[in-house]
Amino acid sequence: MFSSLSEKLQDVFKKLRGKGKLTEKDIKEAMKEVKLALLEADVNYKVVKDFINTVTQKAVGEEVLESLTPAQQVIKIVYDEMVNLLGGSDTKLTFSPSGFSIYMMVGLQGSGKTTTAGKLAGLLKKQGKNPSLVACDIYRPAAIKQLEVVAQKVGVKCYADYTSQDAVKIAKDGIEFAKSNRSDVVIIDTAGRLHINQELMDELKNIKNAVKPTEILLVVDAMTGQDAVNVAEAFNDQLGIDGIIMTKLDGDTRGGAALSVKAITGKPIKFAGVGEKMEDLEVFHPDRMASRILG
Ligand code: GDP
Repeated sequence: MFSSLSEKLQDVFKKLRGKGKLTEKDIKEAMKEVKLALLEADVNYKVVKDFINTVTQKAVGEEVLESLTPAQQVIKIVYDEMVNLLGGSDTKLTFSPSGFSIYMMVGLQGSGKTTTAGKLAGLLKKQGKNPSLVACDIYRPAAIKQLEVVAQKVGVKCYADYTSQDAVKIAKDGIEFAKSNRSDVVIIDTAGRLHINQELMDELKNIKNAVKPTEILLVVDAMTGQDAVNVAEAFNDQLGIDGIIMTKLDGDTRGGAALSVKAITGKPIKFAGVGEKMEDLEVFHPDRMASRILG
């Protein structure tokens, strides 16, 4: 587990006395290495600073446990704090008490939104739900077709209207369609843009107000690193999101974006996309992510 950081910390503590209690000096030296590891993992600078401060406060004066070396003790504090930050209590998808849940997928074009809508439908179907998909991208007929294809792959119904230019009406009609199919879950795939703009946000707000989703799920691409943070902040400020799905974690990114988006928006990461296939969606595991970020 994060062997390179562990080795570096062993080295740091070799130079220090590091017996008994962890001193401020011990921690300061160790935190330089932790900071580097986090920056290498592409964690946002402000998030790194806050994280280091929190960990330092927790670590100074700690007794070194009998069973651990000082380096292992610091690693444990860093790891536990990161799991704590990445996780929290609300990482599970919330279902509506009414028995009919509506999820609205939002995100930039190319983030993996449409693929993830299909994956989520597949996952919920496996859990015994009866999901329907709704195609609300009125700008790209190819995106509507793509949603129909993924719906077929996972074996769920999909509502599409190639003629309408009214995303709100499509969303409402899609919900009626789902109800008539006895669905208990509706997943609405919305339009994305290459960049955030007001027109997109206004359209999403209109859909939100019209359908009152159980959750708005933001899809972000882990490979976009620091940009993912700006995207998450903008969507959360303007629209209000309930959770994040981070895609493309099968790539070679260390995944620092996960820590950054969670720390900056305060919104939980609920699922991780780990490939292009429909089954490549996992419930998010804060512990695995922490190990990966620490390298
Ligand atoms: P949208 O424009 O946001 O709807 O994005 P798409 O769903 O069309 O996905 C864009 C590209 O990313 C497609 O080639 C997907 O196959 C790919 N993709 C989506 N999720 C993942 C993932 O978790 N891992 C990988 N490797 N590719 C993904």
